[in-house]
Amino acid sequence: SLQVMEYTYDDDLEELCPVCGDKVSGYHYGLLTCESCKGFFKRTVQNNKRYTCAENQECKIDKTQRKRCPFCRFQKCLNVGMRLEGTLQTHSALFRNATFITIK
Ligand SMILES: [Zn+2]
Ligand SMILES: [Zn+2]
Repeated sequence: SLQVMEYTYDDDLEELCPVCGDKVSGYHYGLLTCESCKGFFKRTVQNNKRYTCAENQECKIDKTQRKRCPFCRFQKCLNVGMRLEGTLQTHSALFRNATFITIK
């Protein structure tokens, strides 16, 4: 008989946001992310926001500290693969200036 591999993802709600570790609310910009990061990413791109990091652009982003450094949070959003269709062109300057960090 044929064996079918089963993936045991209980529920999307059990997934954690790849940016901050909060509970995800659904697919946003290509990824399962939490509501907070969805809103943050959207505001950043729509308003063409520029952030600067007061540290070494290596701030730890988690649920409790995600508001501390929007620069590093946005880097992490990009790094984990969040993308807004059609904005790469419009906001190319934003992305060109982005410094990608390595997530270990
Ligand atoms: Zn998040
Ligand atoms: Zn930072």
